[in-house]
Amino acid sequence: MVERLAGPAPAKVNLALDVLGRRSDGYHELDTLFLELELADHVEIVPSEAPGLEVSGPRAAGVPAGRANLAWRALECAAFGAGADPTFRVRIDKQIPAAGGLAGGSSDAAAVLLLAAKLWPQLVPRLPALALELGSDVPFFLTGGFARGRGRGELLEPLPPLPMHDVVLFPPPAGTQAVERKTAAVFAKLAELDSRPPAVSSVLELARGGSLSTEDLVGANALEHAALAVFPWLQEHRTRIEAVIRSPVVLTGAGPTWFWIGPSGSGDAVAHCAREAGLEVIVTRTAAR
Ligand code: ATP
Repeated sequence: MVERLAGPAPAKVNLALDVLGRRSDGYHELDTLFLELELADHVEIVPSEAPGLEVSGPRAAGVPAGRANLAWRALECAAFGAGADPTFRVRIDKQIPAAGGLAGGSSDAAAVLLLAAKLWPQLVPRLPALALELGSDVPFFLTGGFARGRGRGELLEPLPPLPMHDVVLFPPPAGTQAVERKTAAVFAKLAELDSRPPAVSSVLELARGGSLSTEDLVGANALEHAALAVFPWLQEHRTRIEAVIRSPVVLTGAGPTWFWIGPSGSGDAVAHCAREAGLEVIVTRTAAR
């Protein structure tokens, strides 16, 4: 009998994101560059006679418990697929800010699927389909690293690893108002705005050169403009960050987390300036794979 299975659930940023159109199934056709970060939740599943889900850790506040949690749904899907009962406790040590555009919920779900596949190896060939059922960002986390995602994000093309970069994340200030169904609201707003030229190919070309800076990513996220219209405080947060660190920042996914990326070893100085000015920051790096 397995006693406990555990694994990391890393965050991601999108280095670039193009929205190519709306599909007849309601999803958007995307072209994006996913990059895995070292910042990670830690997920474990433990056999239990009292099945359920617990969330702890510095970012646990507001993360749903029970069936609303994507990690629990992943366990149920996996157990159903394996013809077993979901008689487990899922424990999440939450380190990734929730609802920040960092896909922590999707990553927790993928981590549960990967752990479940150790218990029930017959699930392995079905993992990509199960992941996509849970959400568009979930399939990326089955392999992570640096990848181009097309379709809803599930048509993944692994890319050669980017050399190590520092990444400084700027989550929204405490007390900022959450937006109901944030990602859907940002996509809906996008439809009202002018389209812009695609950016993924040119960012990819720069990434192939081996080093990236935030300047290379300015304007490369099609959702940024729409997110600024949905979150009224987002521009003010950006202006404050940029004045303090004297560099642009860019949005990950539908936001509202801004980020800076630069050479390995340079993130601490950026974070120091920001902390001195009272901004909340998380310093991390690109994952080593
Ligand atoms: P999305 O763009 O899909 O909304 P995101 O990257 O902004 O995602 P997540 O941290 O994945 O942010 O959380 C999205 C929503 O999913 C949150 O509003 C939260 O209520 C819900 N959620 C469900 N399960 C989890 C989980 N394990 N961790 C964090 N949030 C979760």
